[in-house]
Amino acid sequence: MDQGRQTGNGTEAYKMTGNTACVSHYWNRPASSSPSIPSSILHTHILVGLSPNKMIMAQTIDDPHPVLERNHHHSFMEYALEQAKRSPTSPPKFCVGAVLVDPQRNRILSTGYSMELPSPAGDEGNTHAEQCCFIKVAQAHNLPLAHAEDYIQDVLPADAVLYTTVEPCNERLSGNTTCIERILKLKNVIRTVYVGIREPSTSVRGNDGLTRLQEEGIRVRVTGDMKDCILRTLTTER
Ligand SMILES: [Zn+2]
Repeated sequence: MDQGRQTGNGTEAYKMTGNTACVSHYWNRPASSSPSIPSSILHTHILVGLSPNKMIMAQTIDDPHPVLERNHHHSFMEYALEQAKRSPTSPPKFCVGAVLVDPQRNRILSTGYSMELPSPAGDEGNTHAEQCCFIKVAQAHNLPLAHAEDYIQDVLPADAVLYTTVEPCNERLSGNTTCIERILKLKNVIRTVYVGIREPSTSVRGNDGLTRLQEEGIRVRVTGDMKDCILRTLTTER
């Protein structure tokens, strides 16, 4: 059941799943903003618990992402979930969201969601969230898009953090490059991966991808605290 209410700085919409409320916050356009700034950029849609005081400043045209409280991992995962909700639903494919962060500068570098981008020539297959996140970094730096992970290491900070709503895939029935492989290509710069939930067992049997990341020295944290909201976003129910 959907419910909503006006707040001092926007609108909140609630959707209940069992005892869990998935809450979306629609931010009002800042009064001082330029009228030339498209409302699609300023009228952000951010999941709450991300309370307004966790969003430090509004985004700009140059940087379309919000600035979230430094190391507030729940907020970054909420932003990843917000990306997942943009994914076209195409069951049994999952809707996943990913966010790449520079923790030192407290800046969101890139985002991605499942099937956000067409697959670049030479890198065929449905694009996954992490892959789209890396392709957009390559786009921003005029680097090759196919197998972007082979080219973007030099433009990423040395301790980047990746947030992804679902455990990265470690096997693709199509034989395409897995997200674990893509992350491992960047293991010298992506030093920490936050995962919202383990990959549901209905997709590919078993997934030792997180173990592979850890064996290569990448810190892995499964947050788990947004499990119900992430599961609801995986397929068709929003
Ligand atoms: Zn994947």
